Amino acid sequence: MVCRINELLVDSHWSVVIIGAGQAGLSAAHYLWRDGLVPGRDFIILDAGDGPGGAWRERWDSLTLGTTNHISDLPGFPLGRPNPNVPASRVVSDYYDQFERELELCVVRPADVSSVTSEERGAGILHITTDIDGQRVRLSTDFLINATGTWTQPYVPFVPGIGDFEGRQLHTVNFRDVEDFRGLRTLVVGGGISATQFLLQLAEVTDTVWATRRPPNFTTREFDGQWGLEVERAVRERTLSGLAPASVVRTTGLPIRREFREGVDSGVLVSRGMFDRILPHGVHFPGTTESPPPTTSDGLGPSANDVLAVPESWAPFATARVEEIDVIFWNTGFRAALKHLAPLHLRTPEGGIAMDTEVAVRDDPRLFLVGYGSASSTLGATRAGRIAARELLKRMSGRQRSPRSSRPEAGAEPSPEPTGNTAES
Ligand code: FAD
Repeated sequence: MVCRINELLVDSHWSVVIIGAGQAGLSAAHYLWRDGLVPGRDFIILDAGDGPGGAWRERWDSLTLGTTNHISDLPGFPLGRPNPNVPASRVVSDYYDQFERELELCVVRPADVSSVTSEERGAGILHITTDIDGQRVRLSTDFLINATGTWTQPYVPFVPGIGDFEGRQLHTVNFRDVEDFRGLRTLVVGGGISATQFLLQLAEVTDTVWATRRPPNFTTREFDGQWGLEVERAVRERTLSGLAPASVVRTTGLPIRREFREGVDSGVLVSRGMFDRILPHGVHFPGTTESPPPTTSDGLGPSANDVLAVPESWAPFATARVEEIDVIFWNTGFRAALKHLAPLHLRTPEGGIAMDTEVAVRDDPRLFLVGYGSASSTLGATRAGRIAARELLKRMSGRQRSPRSSRPEAGAEPSPEPTGNTAES
């Protein structure tokens, strides 16, 4: 049984390797486990984190279940109704930890996978190189479930002068405490829910400026199951055609919560458009009197009627000006964390990966992507783990596996609608 780095792991060969122990990887592991595969014997999970929790482990303390959208249950293991005021990082890390223990998943960590290679394109075995506790380890597998999320690939757009800025720059992933900003004039960049929530927190300790490329995408539509499914369908259509997944906010829009409405009224949640140059101590806004660019041009996102649901939230500077800034806080999203798969040459010219289904990679039957594109919420990640495990087991059957007996159901099959804790605020 291999649960940590030892001589059994080095140069070992596996039927299945899962990379990533977030919601997607744990869900896939559950369905392999339920089919009778033994963790540490039939499959192994490699995770770069220092402990359980996936990306949730890394999130800031003011993000609680009372301020998140919704965290779905892991399969057969209800989250229940944790205290909405406790940091989500703690709640989810504890929850995943219990799940890992219950299934004896013995996740190998911290195990950062640096590359996956193959001698043949789309066939043969996959070779994995990973750094475990500073030691380089190579292993191989017949099938790979990749569940590496996006958190480790923060995205910052290039803006001329970005290297000249003499103040502090940080991304969502670096945020820890609003007190770090006290008295520092902060430019918050990005139109997502993180940006809007941070702006409201920062306004209590400092002066802020909000920059977005498009009008804030407030929508009157309630975030319900049906909308969730429509959003997923729109993103899935993109990924199936080999395009890179779209940003979440572009796809879902921002709910008009009471505190957001108040933020617009107080002037905190009013975007001044997008700057075009970064200077050593500030940014340059070009000024515009043009009407706002359309938010949706490809069927994604809220309907055109919803786009300017709060028109007062969009007030770009009319004339060119420089804003003095101490901190640039990029809330500009993420990309899929797939660098380690680059040697497999899966990227299409359009920048995505051509998929046959939500989880199956078109050009490589050994490989599944879970938590990718339309499956990047906890709900989608759970579903993707299930679909990938089932498809993988089908592909495996009749091959090298010894007879096994399925385990009894560890819990109810997850429903297509959210079933777990709902954010309470
Ligand atoms: P992750 O949780 O990111 O797990 C990926 C794991 O893979 C990590 O443990 C990571 O260490 C590991 N990994 C990455 N690269 C490697 C590598 N090369 N080698 C080995 N291991 C690796 N979703 C919701 O459903 N509800 C919400 O309320 C919600 N709020 C969010 C708030 C924020 C600020 C953000 C950024 C996202 C939010 N999401 C929310 C999306 C949420 O992140 C996903 O739901 C969920 O975490 C994705 O799970 P995952 O398993 O795909 O990825």
